[in-house]
Amino acid sequence: MERVPRHLFIEQGLEHLAYLDRPLPIGASQTISQPYTVAMQTHLLALSKWDRVLEIGTGCGYQTAILLELGLMVFSMERQKKLYLLAQKNLSALGYNSVQLHYGDGFEGLPQFAPFKGILITCGIPQIPQSLLGQLAMGGRMVVPVGTEVQTMTVVEHTHEQTFKEQTFGAYSFVPMLHGTR
Ligand code: SAH
Repeated sequence: MERVPRHLFIEQGLEHLAYLDRPLPIGASQTISQPYTVAMQTHLLALSKWDRVLEIGTGCGYQTAILLELGLMVFSMERQKKLYLLAQKNLSALGYNSVQLHYGDGFEGLPQFAPFKGILITCGIPQIPQSLLGQLAMGGRMVVPVGTEVQTMTVVEHTHEQTFKEQTFGAYSFVPMLHGTR
C-alpha cells in the first residue's frame, strides 16, 4: 500500500485528504474505499503471487493497483463507463499494464476467464451472488460485503465440489452493487 500513490486516484482538489483513513469521492456518485477496508479485503482474500483474481467494482482502480502490487493476475469489472475509463487512465499512467479491465455487469462475472482463486466484491449486496460462486476455483475465496444499509464482510470458501464455507468479519459500509451498465 505504501507503493501506491492514493492521491493520484481521487478527485482533483482532495489530494490533501488522500492519506487519511477515510473514503473519498471519485465521481459518478461513487467512492474510493477507505484504506483500512482495502487492506482488510485484500488480507481476507489470502492469495499468493500469480493467483487469478476477479474484482467487481473497479471504481478508480486503487484496490486494483494493490492487487497488482501483490503479483496477482487481475481481472476487474466496472458497470459505469466513466469509471471504467478513469481506472484505465489511472492504472496505465502508473505503468500497471498487465491488468485486464472489463466494462460490464459484475453479476455476470467473466466466465470465459474462470475459475478464479479469489473474487473480491467492492460494493454491497443483499445476498451472496450465487451467479459468481460458480466462477470460484476449488479452494478459492470470495470476499463480499453482504447487506443493504450496513454490510457484513463475508468470506465464502469453496471447500468441496458443491460445498461452500462462510465466515463473517464485522460491519462495513459500501455503495450498492447494481444491475446493468451505464
Ligand atoms: N475498489 C473501488 C471501489 C469503488 S466503489 C476503488 O478502489 O475505487 C464500488 C464500485 O462498484 C463503483 O465504482 C460501482 O460503480 C461499482 N459497481 C456497482 N455495481 C456493479 C456491478 N454490478 N458490476 C460492476 N461494478 C459495479
